[in-house]
Amino acid sequence: MPCLSGFFLQTRPRQTDAGDFHSDRRPTPISLQIPRLSYEELYDWKHGRMKCFRFLPFVLFLTQNAFAQGGAQHFKQLGEELPTPTEVRLASGAPGPEYWQQQVDYTIDVTLDDVKKRLIGSERIRYQNNSPHELKYLWVQLDQNSLKMDSDRSLVRDAPRFRKFSYRYMASLLAREEYEGGVKLKVVEADGRPAKYTVVKTMMRIDLKRPLKPGKSIKLRIDWEHNINNAKEIWGRGGYEQFKEDGHRIYTIAQWFPRMAAYNDVDGWQNKQFIGRGEFTLELGDYDVRITVPEDHVVGATGVLQNPRKVLTKNQRARLVSALKSDQPIFIVDKSEAEAASKHDPKKEKLKNKTWHFKAKNVRDFAFASSRRFLWDAMGVQNGEERVLCMSYYPKEAEALWFRYSSPAIAHTIEVYGRMTFPYPYPVAISVNGPIGGMEYPMISFNGPRAEKDGTYYARASKSKRWDRTKYGLISVIIHEVGHNWFPMIINSDERQWTWMDEGLNTFLQFITEREWEKDYPSRRGPPKNIIPYMKSKNQVPIMTNSESLLQFGNNAYGKPATALNILRETIMGREVFDFAFKTYSNRWRFKRPMPADFFRTMEDASSIDLDWFWRGWFYGTQHVDIKLGKVKEFVFETGNPAIDKPARKKEKEETEPRDLTQQRNTKEGKTYRVDRFPELKDFYNRFDKNVATEEEKEKFKKMFDKLEPWEQKLLETKRFFYVLDFENVGGLVSPVPLKIEYQNGRTETISYPAEIWRLNTKQVSKLLMTKQPLKSLEIDPLWEIADADRSNNSWPPIPVKSRFKLFKKKYDKNQMQKQRAWKKKKAEERKKADEEEKAKAGKKESSK
Ligand SMILES: [Zn+2]
Repeated sequence: MPCLSGFFLQTRPRQTDAGDFHSDRRPTPISLQIPRLSYEELYDWKHGRMKCFRFLPFVLFLTQNAFAQGGAQHFKQLGEELPTPTEVRLASGAPGPEYWQQQVDYTIDVTLDDVKKRLIGSERIRYQNNSPHELKYLWVQLDQNSLKMDSDRSLVRDAPRFRKFSYRYMASLLAREEYEGGVKLKVVEADGRPAKYTVVKTMMRIDLKRPLKPGKSIKLRIDWEHNINNAKEIWGRGGYEQFKEDGHRIYTIAQWFPRMAAYNDVDGWQNKQFIGRGEFTLELGDYDVRITVPEDHVVGATGVLQNPRKVLTKNQRARLVSALKSDQPIFIVDKSEAEAASKHDPKKEKLKNKTWHFKAKNVRDFAFASSRRFLWDAMGVQNGEERVLCMSYYPKEAEALWFRYSSPAIAHTIEVYGRMTFPYPYPVAISVNGPIGGMEYPMISFNGPRAEKDGTYYARASKSKRWDRTKYGLISVIIHEVGHNWFPMIINSDERQWTWMDEGLNTFLQFITEREWEKDYPSRRGPPKNIIPYMKSKNQVPIMTNSESLLQFGNNAYGKPATALNILRETIMGREVFDFAFKTYSNRWRFKRPMPADFFRTMEDASSIDLDWFWRGWFYGTQHVDIKLGKVKEFVFETGNPAIDKPARKKEKEETEPRDLTQQRNTKEGKTYRVDRFPELKDFYNRFDKNVATEEEKEKFKKMFDKLEPWEQKLLETKRFFYVLDFENVGGLVSPVPLKIEYQNGRTETISYPAEIWRLNTKQVSKLLMTKQPLKSLEIDPLWEIADADRSNNSWPPIPVKSRFKLFKKKYDKNQMQKQRAWKKKKAEERKKADEEEKAKAGKKESSK
């Protein structure tokens, strides 16, 4: 007997408020059950998948059918995986009344030696202990030590694949051998006195004479210097690029000064060594930085320039004022000015130095860029009451792409991210072109793509086209890196531990921002269908894995969380509910340090939607989505009245079942039958039509009908079609099931079953469709919104899988004899040609004599 576990059509309008689809209501128990006589299988309609059954109303209590394939694990609350809430981090996902974080302020003087390619710095740190704990020592990050030959970062690197050993890789190996990396510490003081310190690879422990008490602060001084790497040869998150044409360089300087490690309520000191991939966990604070560079350099940095009169011309200052008011980029330094500066030769002329002074409030890091080759443009963008100055610095080689797109891409990011989270809190936002593909810092980012030498570029990358020569590559990376101002620069997550918390959330907003740039923006990460190959791949770990151990890094930490959030927003929660919750998370943790549980909890706290199954499936698991539409069965409703049901059955049979071929041909040939030739052979059964109700049957029905209550009698007039659809979860990841229904009259509608349909049975469920019109077709996930990995099992009736093919002719390599003959022939021809040219020259000389 077919099993009807859900006797209701659960429809919901798409993308409405949560109440509509977070339904724990018990279904209205329309008490229909298949009785003994209804199991008459009439026909196997269309591809043998649609079976038609008849049923009569039958009064019975409905019981939910519980299967063996329980969804208990999939829908289990995350309680055991998440840390116990505290008064620092609440069960709601918000920071609690006892929330604390350290404050670190820096005053730095640094000189860029353009000839020696070296940084010489001196910094004063004010470390404020807001924790309730006494600290006997402080940890400082020395990221430059990761560029030493014997660093963990060098040693953990796998051997290259010798089959694909590129020139570039060989050059890089030799450069690393040459380069003297690592920071040289000259002074380390605490409270004005030399401090005892121990360097442990990329970390330094400073031992304090007296413990630093809660609520107290301490002053540190560190003087240091280090070389600057050629970032094109030795990969780093900063470094310089040297231009062959004039020998000048662009410096993009990051992770350049000893920075305090973070101390927090979850991990204590986050002093996990820097081995290259897990990024930077830092404290917020104020910066006061003086950068001394050759006088012909232009400097862009985190923060606001304090001494424009000293470092900029009157003209440049005036241009900056107009740029802030302008909605389009204006040059502050144009190509001719950059070219004039590039005529200088610091090795021959003695160039003076100039000091650029910047201040930044409430930032977690500081980076800068410096070059005499910089063009510099700027424009303003409205940001609440104020305007933000969007600025771009780039060499003339990048002008073709950058003048048009860089600053506008910054402005666009500020608009969209601001709307989705909170307004950009800083006065400037900068994008710099140099040797770094894409890297983010507060107020400043480094972005690699530039045009070809002739000013042309591709639209988008593909296997044969480099992304760093493309228009959309540039726009996307700028949106992404400027977007990092929100995640993790302001929503200050622990990057060394959780890559997805900044990259995933940021890539999600990057996708939204790209799609608002232009209609068909070719976004790489975010669209559900793009994540399918990764979701189906074998070599996977959950998103909730430490940064250094992630496999398929980009897909895991960027693509999958971005897609998950996109599905959460568009399919599961709806835009309104999702946006409110996401904004709540962003604002709760603005200038604070969230952990994964704070995100998971806030998204539920602010939406009233239980998402534990979703976090469990997408963030803690590695299964993929593949929902299959199995059998589709039709149930025809019978009234029980033989005067109606019998002719209806006959008609149905005539319409669907062809008459026997022998019968058909006999009729066609005009066969006369024996019973017609000898009518005496006909009896009662030749006259009896089993499809006509007998008087006895009519009377029996009437008796039964009269005993029914009036409302029950009325129900027998019901004109509906009943279908039972079997869904199978092939991929394993529980998912909502959007379903497009097409009726035979051409009308279509889409309904969406929530993921909770799998709560009792994660492998297979059946759903009832009660419709006024007969069905024509069904399709799971018609809008490709749930990353369903196999679309070939999504439709009823099935749709052929389309692909294209071309004829192809096999080519064989020439054999060695053919190759040698051809080579000899070519050489002979070349010799002959050379001889002729020689003769011709000799002839000319002869005639000119
Ligand atoms: Zn990123």
